[in-house]
Amino acid sequence: RPILEAKHVTKKFPLANGKELIANDDISLKFYKGQTLGIVGESGCGKSTFMRMMVQLEKPTSGKIFFKEKDITKMKGEELRANRRNVQMVFQNPATSFNPKMKVRDIICEPLMNFGLIKKKEKDAIARKYLEMVELPGDFVDRYPHNMSGGQQQRVGIARAIALEPEIIFCDESTSALDVSVQKTILELLVKLQKEKQIALGFICHDLAMISSIAHQVAVMYMGNIVEILPGEKVTEEAMHPYTKALLQSVFDIHMDFSKPIEPLEGEVNGATGEQKGCPFQNRCAYCMKKCREEKPELKTVGEKHELACHLKNTNL
Ligand code: SF4
Ligand code: MG
Repeated sequence: RPILEAKHVTKKFPLANGKELIANDDISLKFYKGQTLGIVGESGCGKSTFMRMMVQLEKPTSGKIFFKEKDITKMKGEELRANRRNVQMVFQNPATSFNPKMKVRDIICEPLMNFGLIKKKEKDAIARKYLEMVELPGDFVDRYPHNMSGGQQQRVGIARAIALEPEIIFCDESTSALDVSVQKTILELLVKLQKEKQIALGFICHDLAMISSIAHQVAVMYMGNIVEILPGEKVTEEAMHPYTKALLQSVFDIHMDFSKPIEPLEGEVNGATGEQKGCPFQNRCAYCMKKCREEKPELKTVGEKHELACHLKNTNL
């Protein structure tokens, strides 16, 4: 049973010209205890919008979001506020989300205080406990955000999130300001904490190679649509969607030997204004057929834990 489940979630935003932007188009995804689901796609594909709905910062236009058995889109007031504790988010740029005048002790304990879960005199011990979990020295409790590196700030952000003992944590690395090696150690820390605490992780990212190395399942998003879902460990060998393959190629480039190389990504990502018929990837796809312009491919099971939305019969191209 999933901890968190998106069922047919659609999010539309009104545009200045009177049309609508479909940021998320009928997305269904499940997050399980102790598992990582990575959502990957280019910037503007709608993955951050999706995450914002999962962490209750925004409501979907239609569809349901279940936390355990309860639809959070129907929650209001106190119930909604209380549920925030279960679904936490780690910000990609913690510096901008921290109050620069607050010490680490207060940064970590603020949500706990807000939820009325601890007393003031417990703050120091609790902040130190969670600093240890994120592998920072206890005396960091007296530091201010500007006295820490980006990686250390990120760790404090994680400490703040896990202090609430949430069931699921979302992390948006797609616009991370951290350099790659720091990002990697932060990732390893999250994976370690996940193993210890059996939390579910939702990881939003634009790096398919990186995400497939840590995620149990990877969902590939294109223009608001999930085009392929498959196990992280199978991405390199079993990816079928032309877009997933193109993403792989742009990452691995020289390491991958496609017998028949896929065309590089070309064409414009046109706004998903809902006017376009057929496959969202048609304008950039080297294999686009007549059917692709007329009929939108639905996600279908093509293997174990593997779903694909593409009309190609032979995806072994
Ligand atoms: Fe390409 Fe057609 Fe598959 Fe879309 S459905 S990815 S256009 S082959
Ligand atoms: Mg984004």
